[in-house]
Amino acid sequence: MDIIKSPEEMQRLALFLKRSGKTIGFVPTMGFLHEGHLSLMRAARGRCDLLVTSIFVNPTQFGPNEDLAAYPRDFERDEALCEGEGVDIVFYPEPASMYAADASVWVDEQALSGGLCGAARPGHFRGVCTVVAKLFNLVQPDLAVFGEKDAQQLRIIERMVRDLNFPVQIVRGPIVREPDGLAMSSRNKYLTSLQRQNALCLRQALDHAADLLEQGVSDVAVLRKGIATLIARVPEAEIDYIAFVDDASLAPVDAVEGSTLVALAVKFGSTRLIDNAVLVP
Ligand code: AMP
Repeated sequence: MDIIKSPEEMQRLALFLKRSGKTIGFVPTMGFLHEGHLSLMRAARGRCDLLVTSIFVNPTQFGPNEDLAAYPRDFERDEALCEGEGVDIVFYPEPASMYAADASVWVDEQALSGGLCGAARPGHFRGVCTVVAKLFNLVQPDLAVFGEKDAQQLRIIERMVRDLNFPVQIVRGPIVREPDGLAMSSRNKYLTSLQRQNALCLRQALDHAADLLEQGVSDVAVLRKGIATLIARVPEAEIDYIAFVDDASLAPVDAVEGSTLVALAVKFGSTRLIDNAVLVP
């Protein structure tokens, strides 16, 4: 397994590999890897000749008051996990090598980015799209795997690839959960043991919405109230958003009549967790 820190070296090698006829699978991450990340690597592994993972805590997708400095990092552990998954190349650049001090070009998706996490985190998806576009140019993947855990991000990346003609196939990886239902996230590390227990309300709220729908409730106002009431009973849980949106356009819906994404962001102290499910009537 090679570890490459220089963007120029990464691109040179990727172009060489492509010219040699190799196909490249890619899993971009911010590191502090868990089973969710590893599942994406396994999904890419069988579909390509070579597997590249990037580990880069991208500063441009964090707001000024967010957890960029505190974001958990453990490169040695990540390296061992990548090795175990048969990763061929870990791309591990420094922020200063990724962004020129006077960088002035951004990729800004303008239809899907406004709501949900985009409303709560202004500029977040501009940072995500820009870094993913740069990573695609550096890694030259044929295929890239993104997790459904970040449902809005996944749809925005698919739109970016379509609208900017990136020659990359995007593969969706299902959400990987802890045995008790909490969606795996590098940020779960921030939770106290009590918050960790309370955080189960995200999954419970999604299940509750699905149960209500099964009982014939499709009115989003009623579904939202059901979820909000469940979460409000949980100590320390502070709702950031509860959204019911069209699965494709991410436009808010009043009733679950077609495939509907229900997405939640809930804060426990300063830790903000997200989760989602797709409801089909
Ligand atoms: P991150 O390191 O959090 O930026 O995530 C890197 C990739 O892993 C993204 O495509 C995420 O959607 C995906 N991911 C994170 N957590 C999970 C999970 N629990 N299940 C599946 N994919 C995940």
